Amino acid sequence: MIDTLNIPVNRTPASRLAQTDFSNLPFGKIFSDHMFVADYADGEWKNLQIVPYGDISMSPAASALHYGQAIFEGIKAYKQKNGQIVIFRPVDNFERFNISAERMVMPVVPEEIFMQGMAQLINLDRDWVPTAEGHSLYIRPFMFATDPVIGVHASAAYKFIIIIGPTGAYYAKPIKVKMEMHYARAVEGGVGYAKTAGNYARSLYPTLQAQKEGFDQLIWTDAKEHAYIEESGTTNVMFVINNVLITPSTRDTILDGITRKSILALARSWGMAVEERRVSVAEVIEAAREGSLQEAFGAGTAATIAHIAQIGYKNELFTLPDPASREFSNKALKALSDIRYGNVEDEFGWNYTV
Ligand SMILES: *Cc1c(COP(=O)(O)O)cnc(C)c1O
Repeated sequence: MIDTLNIPVNRTPASRLAQTDFSNLPFGKIFSDHMFVADYADGEWKNLQIVPYGDISMSPAASALHYGQAIFEGIKAYKQKNGQIVIFRPVDNFERFNISAERMVMPVVPEEIFMQGMAQLINLDRDWVPTAEGHSLYIRPFMFATDPVIGVHASAAYKFIIIIGPTGAYYAKPIKVKMEMHYARAVEGGVGYAKTAGNYARSLYPTLQAQKEGFDQLIWTDAKEHAYIEESGTTNVMFVINNVLITPSTRDTILDGITRKSILALARSWGMAVEERRVSVAEVIEAAREGSLQEAFGAGTAATIAHIAQIGYKNELFTLPDPASREFSNKALKALSDIRYGNVEDEFGWNYTV
């Protein structure tokens, strides 16, 4: 992209790069030297700047803290063998960010601010992008309401910030999930399709209950009947039954994942049968019972694919085929990795070069 914005840079006098242990990169704890910040006030975006990563100050009355106008995105960038840095499908994240913004009555962020803010920040901190196989740079754009007014209404002021940090090979150990038959992540007419803070807050308690029962995660079902499958944890969910890739169709209770749609595109390009439709709890349990449930996995940016090893349903526990032997999900994982690291041609045009 052509840089049309002149974003002032205030460089840190003290880089933390040399003290950072790139052989130990826990997810979400290490951030690069700088961050991109912009303010929205008086109906326009202003004060675009790249500054040293650090604390921000705001009013204790800031409305995001009280009423939850807060949205975010999660994106990854990869360093290829030739040193080139690519971001995976960031324009899709940009578009989804503004869908979330609209639902939460927040201002849209113009594409050039989102994309150039991100690209210029990554370019400045490019030595923070890890080189090791499987490692990547996690990118977290977010926006929140800053009006210093305790009163329930859409805020007039916002901050848009992008922070980035190196992350290690996210080895997603196969997970044991519980079919959730009481709590709900999202409701029809609600905000499930928006990447907004409250969706994650509300998921913590049910997830903790399941963890106390020995599960790693939940499979969320619809709020009305708990008869249809929606997502798994904070990822989309997919199944292979009788060699057909089946996933819940997107609707207002489901986050429209970019990993999900990338995997669907790969499957279709390989001539695999794909079904996007409502997926019932009953059919998945039935398939698990009779042995036709070949694969089940979560799909999201953090892990790409998280194999589901076991599914708990009411008082039963079903063990699925060995994750290592699963043909489709392992092939999709490798294909995505090969595209991102530049081992194969990017025939879908998913990589965005910084
Ligand atoms: C972010 C997220 C996903 C996955 O989306 P990706 O674009 O693939 O990272 C799925 N479900 C929920 C609830 C999410 O927050």
